[in-house]
Amino acid sequence: MYSRLQCMDCGQEYPVNEVRYACDACGGLLDVLHDWKSLRPQLTRRFFDERLGSLDAPYNSGVWRYKELIYPDAADRDIVSRPEGNTNLYCPRHLAEWAGVKTLYLKHEGENPTGSFKDRGMTGGVTQARILGMQRVACASTGNTSASLASYAAFAGMQCIIFLQNRQIALGKLAQGIAYGAICLQTDGDFDTNLALVREVSERLNIYVLNSVNPFRLEGQKSIIFEVIQQLKWQVPDWIVVPGGNLGNSSAFGKGLKELYDLGLIDRLPRLAVIQAEGASPLYRAYRTGFSDFAAMKAETLATAIKIGNPVSYKRAVRALTWTNGVVDYVTDQQIMDAKALIDAAGIGCEPASACSLAGTRKLVEAGIIRPHETVVGILTGHVLKDPDATIGYHSNTLEDITPAHQNLLRQSAATMDDIVRVLEGDAGRVPA
Ligand SMILES: *Cc1c(COP(=O)(O)O)cnc(C)c1O
Ligand SMILES: [Zn+2]
Repeated sequence: MYSRLQCMDCGQEYPVNEVRYACDACGGLLDVLHDWKSLRPQLTRRFFDERLGSLDAPYNSGVWRYKELIYPDAADRDIVSRPEGNTNLYCPRHLAEWAGVKTLYLKHEGENPTGSFKDRGMTGGVTQARILGMQRVACASTGNTSASLASYAAFAGMQCIIFLQNRQIALGKLAQGIAYGAICLQTDGDFDTNLALVREVSERLNIYVLNSVNPFRLEGQKSIIFEVIQQLKWQVPDWIVVPGGNLGNSSAFGKGLKELYDLGLIDRLPRLAVIQAEGASPLYRAYRTGFSDFAAMKAETLATAIKIGNPVSYKRAVRALTWTNGVVDYVTDQQIMDAKALIDAAGIGCEPASACSLAGTRKLVEAGIIRPHETVVGILTGHVLKDPDATIGYHSNTLEDITPAHQNLLRQSAATMDDIVRVLEGDAGRVPA
């Protein structure tokens, strides 16, 4: 066996072939550790470059291309892959200019099979469920986790149960859960309440829990970093900017970066910037105290994917920030929605939470923390179609407390040539932003 679980607090170790989400001794979060000593000799840049463009499963996946870094013990026949990853890295010049940096890349994780980066974690988590012989899987979700789990569970022939809040779930995400055939349980609890419930119910009914507390999901999500760095021909950017909700991604990025560095695959570490929504910013508040104080908060933001007041992976994220000399900041819903409108109008498109990456980059440049000559990779976490209500609401100016700075009005016209010409000519002076 190449891998084992280790408690990040007390160091207690456990085998990977049993169902376990937390440390028995102290309740701490678990990490998957791999035996780098045996694996290291084969882990070269060239080894991974030779797999690029592979047509064979599982190496055609942008996750499993890095199998030795993610789950070396998994037998190929057990891997549940759609396949995910292989997402684009855009380099939009005018968005870089708007943010105030010379080079801005946007890694579009909305281009995954179910439209968010969650697929990279789910392929790891559902593969582990299959290895453990579990028939049923469950999660609580703000939407994308459940959409992803519903798909991967169906694909693997497992039963899937998802806990959703009855308010503020984005339409696209709800539709996916139902479409992929999951048992969708709407409760009147918020995300944080549902998460506690799903853990209890699953223990009682022998269901495998696939929330981001599950360390095998984080292993899959490390591949976002691996792919970015390989796409940059193993050159390390100065910054990686990522939205922060439950902080699974931030945690996975820190772990992945440290492993690449320790293995000698990169020669320095980029700095991590985690961006939260102002109304859901417990990590930012703790950061301001030097992480001496953490308090959960009641979360409120239009960016429903990061509407989380008590992030499960808080400690792992703090560790990631320490490893990478990282920073945390917040942006307002107004800033999120305006940045989203710019990403959308660039033809790229993303869901609200994703726009934290661009809005946060601009804010950190204005604050003098990111410098204009530095190279920034922003992560776009979800697809533009996930939350159509937010997009339409913004452009029709019906969102509470938001004044659209980059509005694209739906135009009305009678079905006559005269009226159409009148409307279009009235628009003649309008130049694209
Ligand atoms: C889950 C999600 C996030 C938050 O990621 P965490 O790992 O929970 O911090 C951000 N954006 C989108 C679109 C998501 O689905
Ligand atoms: Zn422990």
